[in-house]
Amino acid sequence: TYVIAQPCVDTKDRACVDECPVDCIYEGKRMLYIQPDECVDCGACEPVCPVEAIFYEDDVPEEWKEFYTANVGFFDEV
Ligand code: SF4
Repeated sequence: TYVIAQPCVDTKDRACVDECPVDCIYEGKRMLYIQPDECVDCGACEPVCPVEAIFYEDDVPEEWKEFYTANVGFFDEV
């Protein structure tokens, strides 16, 4: 799955939402989240993010690793 990290917080540009072919990017209070079970790893969302907040799960920078857990956790709660 792809993961949205820190730069999205309080940004929520939503360019990725329009790009996602399976509509698996959802809006949280302060950022957007990718539903990991629905993401087809197409990568379309990554280059369109103006703040470069989106990474493939294995490529999330070390300092933002917790966003993987936060992303998955967001969907466990709802
Ligand atoms: Fe959607 Fe593709 Fe991005 Fe996954 S990688 S969130 S399917 S645009």
